[in-house]
Amino acid sequence: MTVRITFLGGLGEIGRNCATIEIDGKLALLDAGLMFPEEDMLGVDLVLPDFTSVLERADDLECIILTHGHEDHVGSLSYLLRDVNVPVYGTPLAVEFARSRMEEAGVTPDLRPVELREWIEHGPFRFTHLNVAHSVPQATGVVLDTPEGYIVHSGDFKLDPTPIDGHPTDLATFAGFGRSGVRLLLCDSTNAERSGFVPSESTVGQPFRDFVARAEGRVIVACFASHLHRVQQALNAVVADGRRFAFLGRSMVRNSEIGYELGLLKVAPEHQVELEDLDDYPPGETAVICTGSQGEPYAALSLMASGEHHAIHLSPDDTVIISATPIPGNEAKVSRVINNLTRLGVTVHHGLNSHVHVSGHAAADELRTFFNVVQPATMIPVHGEYRHLHANAALARQVGVAEVLVCQDGDAVTLDGMETRLEHAAVPAGYVYVDGYGIGDVEEVLRDRRHLADDGVLVVTVGIDAGSGEVVFGPDIDSHGVSDEWEEIHREVAESVSAALSEMDWPTDLDSVRRGVRSAAARAVRRQTNRRPVVFPILIEL
Ligand SMILES: [Zn+2]
Ligand SMILES: [Zn+2]
Repeated sequence: MTVRITFLGGLGEIGRNCATIEIDGKLALLDAGLMFPEEDMLGVDLVLPDFTSVLERADDLECIILTHGHEDHVGSLSYLLRDVNVPVYGTPLAVEFARSRMEEAGVTPDLRPVELREWIEHGPFRFTHLNVAHSVPQATGVVLDTPEGYIVHSGDFKLDPTPIDGHPTDLATFAGFGRSGVRLLLCDSTNAERSGFVPSESTVGQPFRDFVARAEGRVIVACFASHLHRVQQALNAVVADGRRFAFLGRSMVRNSEIGYELGLLKVAPEHQVELEDLDDYPPGETAVICTGSQGEPYAALSLMASGEHHAIHLSPDDTVIISATPIPGNEAKVSRVINNLTRLGVTVHHGLNSHVHVSGHAAADELRTFFNVVQPATMIPVHGEYRHLHANAALARQVGVAEVLVCQDGDAVTLDGMETRLEHAAVPAGYVYVDGYGIGDVEEVLRDRRHLADDGVLVVTVGIDAGSGEVVFGPDIDSHGVSDEWEEIHREVAESVSAALSEMDWPTDLDSVRRGVRSAAARAVRRQTNRRPVVFPILIEL
């Protein structure tokens, strides 16, 4: 019996990780993530995988298997489950993170928490979750026991030997599968271009303690709200320094509550206070753990940095630790926040000037080690841009993995005995944009937005008698983003439009009038400015 894996996302971008696995005509989904928009996706809120090929076969979809609770792995569940509400398996934290997001979207999911190394059987699927170290607790790799042999998905992982929770990547169990024979490994590629090993999460602890102890005023620590191990280390440092702390930012407050409930976050309760009660203490005895490490413009940290936060006004005595590095696309925003903080005279430690951040993804030596442990017959790099996938493939070949296939979104791979068949572009796998309430293909809208953003807009309004061609009022010109010397340009455009109207043969149809007005206006602007704004002719027939 063959097994077929189809990649819906995550192979060609960091984000919207999602693949289907098909056994005996039934489908399971491995992760259902989202991607945050890139800089040129103007106004787009989120980017989802294209679920068309799954929804066409909704009756065949048996379940969804999660590797961990990061948004790029669970974030599109709230959209998919509106249409097909199948059971979702994952570690307790993964399903809790997924739940809080889905409840906001009004979906009631069938979430099934799993234990590590427990075998789950659902339809033709038999699978187990193995612990891996990553930048969120309870991250896992998944092993599927299929008619074609074991398929191992690494999940997002690193080989941290001293993780905060004492649960390193379960190499012993991975090695057991390696000895029995792994048919296919799908492996995280994020850091494949980086040489050596990524330092342990616990190495961040000492710098945290040093910087907090040295801080005269308030301490602000910004990190990912899902990174409970990082939050824990920040709490350890501020508590050791005798500070009271408050959480700030919606996801930080929510995730810390989930962390307490699941016993993943531990702190003596008397150290935590409400944000508004922090003022009862001298600044040097307080700390704030907040969101905004990616420079998100409306997050607490950005508002503090620009002096716009309603409750926290930073002073030169204060210390800010941005415990993250910007993910691609956020560099400029993070840089703006650091500039603003520096202008305020605040001491800033961040991932690029201090050891206050480590990555959660394996670097080259860890990947090579992992291949030697798992010993797959075939390896397919996942979770990365094309360059990362390519680099990961090279590492696998270096250590002698027999077959390495670089796939992209939309590709399908069929395992059939010793044969591995790759079919390019087997299913639609383009970006599906979410913008406000709209979901779908807004490619055209985006093209317009880019055009408007690049060149501005010019609106020409004319009241006209379509029979005689007599101009009743106008042309009135309005423009945005075209030129700051708009008065002269508007006058030129009005003259050029009037001239064009007077040269037309009347009576004529409104479409050709509209075309004539548009090209006359565009010509006038081009003559004056060499710019090509979007021109909207508005004809009012009188
Ligand atoms: Zn990920
Ligand atoms: Zn992750």
